[in-house]
Amino acid sequence: TINGSKDSEKPRDKLLGGLLTDDFDEDSCLSRYHKSFLYRKASPYKPSEYLVSKLRSYEMLHKRCGPGTNAYKKATKKLNQDENYAKKSVGECKYIVWIASYGLGNRILTLASVFLYALLTERIVLVDQSKDISDLFCEPFPGTSWLLPLDFPLMSQLDSYNKNYSRCYGTMLINQSINSTSIPPHLYLHILHDSRDQDKMFFCGKDQTLINKVPWLIVQTNVYFIPSLWLNPTFQTELIKLFPQKETVFYHLARYLLHPTNQVWGMVTRSYDAYLSRADETLGIQVRVFSRRAGYFEHVMDQILACTQREKLLPQVASQEESQVVITTNNTSKTPKLKAVLVTSLYPEYSDTLKNMYWERPTSTGDIVQVYQPSGERVQQTDKKLHDQKALAEMYLLSLTDNIVTSARSTFGYVAHSLGGLKPWLLYQPVRGRTPDPPCVKAISMEPCFLTPPSHGCEAQKGINSAKIVPFVRHCEDLRHDGLKLF
Ligand code: GDP
Repeated sequence: TINGSKDSEKPRDKLLGGLLTDDFDEDSCLSRYHKSFLYRKASPYKPSEYLVSKLRSYEMLHKRCGPGTNAYKKATKKLNQDENYAKKSVGECKYIVWIASYGLGNRILTLASVFLYALLTERIVLVDQSKDISDLFCEPFPGTSWLLPLDFPLMSQLDSYNKNYSRCYGTMLINQSINSTSIPPHLYLHILHDSRDQDKMFFCGKDQTLINKVPWLIVQTNVYFIPSLWLNPTFQTELIKLFPQKETVFYHLARYLLHPTNQVWGMVTRSYDAYLSRADETLGIQVRVFSRRAGYFEHVMDQILACTQREKLLPQVASQEESQVVITTNNTSKTPKLKAVLVTSLYPEYSDTLKNMYWERPTSTGDIVQVYQPSGERVQQTDKKLHDQKALAEMYLLSLTDNIVTSARSTFGYVAHSLGGLKPWLLYQPVRGRTPDPPCVKAISMEPCFLTPPSHGCEAQKGINSAKIVPFVRHCEDLRHDGLKLF
């Protein structure tokens, strides 16, 4: 139907099983309530009651400590004093500031990671608004704001924090300038792809005891670090209660936290209503090319075709001779199905090739294939408002498809499939310009991958393979023997 609802049996559960509060005005953020679930299939995954109650308590805490409160004012004063928090109590309001960096997929994965860490450690999460975050997402917590006020005392320095900063946790460990008798009012956490072993000590139990006493944490991260939180015994017990279905962590967190603004939602629904809603079946294909000279490559196109045909996601096209037969017998066969393919890529050539292929020849099944690509931006332009809005709209659109093929190592793809509750077919990253064989692998979990996890365990476990510690955290399918992912 035109309103995008193609599953008339779905329960009208606008609060997603209690995940969302009823406290918001609907029109200010259409994606949050009914509009969003009209476009989604009924969810097979329900949030645990424990998660729901934890979110409600978090919302109250955020209201008490958030921007504009006396607690917030008092807390920001701590930043200017050089007090030692080893013996001093931090009080009720502790904070973690998220710095926006890297592409939008990275940002979304890290917002979820930092928010979960805040839930676990009872910190308030505040987000750097100097980039375009408020053009992308609605406020997630009722009666308060998650935006870091622009007059935050360390505002001017946020962009320059790196491993060399004297208050960087890993650097302080190297310099032995932090221990249980000397705790600063703020710490910078560097959890990026280039983190050192010392930066990654953040995930260890003993280090968390120290870090817990610090009033302000400022984190720059571009990785989905949630799998490593599960390896910390103190968090693990709580995490199992919050997420009895382990592969639903990002799925629930993203649906709770990230609601596209009306402008982005308009882009999602216009595309959906025009190109996807009438199809009998939808397939998303996300093509990310990481090689130095990016663009259109024959071997990547071959890989997409090999994967979608081998896995029977798309019908084959008939050969020249068969074409005639198919056309003549088509009248007698059953009603053809309409398959809509949503392609997203910086480059338009992949979908153009696919579109031509299905126009020039009939399919061997008689089914009709319609190909659509919303944008083809050619180059990444992170922090340009409309560019980022398009990227977000496309991730959401992909998440609404029935099946999805995504590119290895791409956080853009991870967000799309995890948000949709979809186990993707992951296209292996080509090596030396060759189509990988097999071209893709079906993921056994819908969770995103932590691409650069610690290669060591904590304390006594040093040197241990972190994919072997618990059965539900393993290497990622797309990286073969690397990365960490929840199953
Ligand atoms: P990753 O680099 O694949 O892990 O994903 P990121 O989202 O972190 O960074 C890539 C950025 O490039 C995106 O945020 C977009 O700005 C842009 N981009 C890459 N692929 C696409 C695409 O398919 N569609 C759109 N609109 N933008 C894309």
